[in-house]
Amino acid sequence: MPVSALLRAVRGARVNELPSPEPVPDCAECARFLARLAATPAQTSEWTDVRVLWRRHLVAQHPVSGVGTSSC
Ligand SMILES: [Zn+2]
Repeated sequence: MPVSALLRAVRGARVNELPSPEPVPDCAECARFLARLAATPAQTSEWTDVRVLWRRHLVAQHPVSGVGTSSC
């Protein structure tokens, strides 16, 4: 398999694996992350960074918006 095909597969898998985070309506931080993500070219390292930071923010600040949080 050519390297370019492998690279494309890896990139595609990574993109499919992590859906874009959902902004929480009344959160200024989420609005800022959304604006920053929209202003950053897709699939660059900065774009990935913004998504990772946003996900971290969602987990830390909006834990209830996830799934399966009431299972104990
Ligand atoms: Zn938020």
